[in-house]
Amino acid sequence: MEIVDKITSINTNYLAYALIALFYTVEQILSSKLLSNEKKVKHLLHNIPFEIVTFIVNLFWAAVVVASIEWLNTNHIGFFYYITIPVWLKLILGVALLDLTTYWFHRMSHNVPILWRFHRVHHSDTNMDSTTYFRAHPIEVLFWFGTSNIVASAIFGLDLLTLGLYVLVVTPFLVIEHIDVNLPDWLDKTLGWIFTTPNLHKVHHEQDEHFTNSNYADIFILWDRLFGTFKHKPVEQITFGLKEFDHPKKQAFWYLLKSPFININKDQ
Ligand SMILES: [Zn+2]
Ligand SMILES: [Zn+2]
Repeated sequence: MEIVDKITSINTNYLAYALIALFYTVEQILSSKLLSNEKKVKHLLHNIPFEIVTFIVNLFWAAVVVASIEWLNTNHIGFFYYITIPVWLKLILGVALLDLTTYWFHRMSHNVPILWRFHRVHHSDTNMDSTTYFRAHPIEVLFWFGTSNIVASAIFGLDLLTLGLYVLVVTPFLVIEHIDVNLPDWLDKTLGWIFTTPNLHKVHHEQDEHFTNSNYADIFILWDRLFGTFKHKPVEQITFGLKEFDHPKKQAFWYLLKSPFININKDQ
């Protein structure tokens, strides 16, 4: 089917890069942070290598995910193969169910110590902006964006069109959640009833563990409201990052890349 080929062939990496180029420019004009140019360049140079490594890892991993889902579909594995509903409803439910599965994988990453060692790299950023989207450990990328989607497809019987649509929807959310630009309060509050907004995701990047372990959802904040992990804090009161990564040396790419294999004391 032509539409299936079109949606599954969209490279969402380029969509993410275009959005980051746009928002990074806007951040330079509107940001309230008083960072020197030297610090801004350093921050950028520590986040970009993560994307380069992830891009390479994904060249291999995306093929594994696609092959796994094709195998599941060929063998009619998953809930949707046992019910008859219209295609459009299957697509909407499919996107929501992929988001729900990612919610639980994300929550698990905060609660299982070995997974947190990798996920804390994303939380380490003390100067959050659109490029924080890049800061994720490559091994974690394998765990999340591969395994969670395969698991969701196996349980619910989702196909590649649904996955393509999900990635197309979730990518702008993942970039915009991290931007250092505040949406008008009324807009953030209104959208925040259903969707994850920048202010709500920023609560998730607060140093205080009480708030770090909240607002896990990527698209629908409804999952947090439903499963009791929704929290709110005014964005101007948020301190970003993790205490154990506060030192500038611990914001460097090489340190962060090896950090899952180091025991880091929170009081350091
Ligand atoms: Zn997290
Ligand atoms: Zn984040």
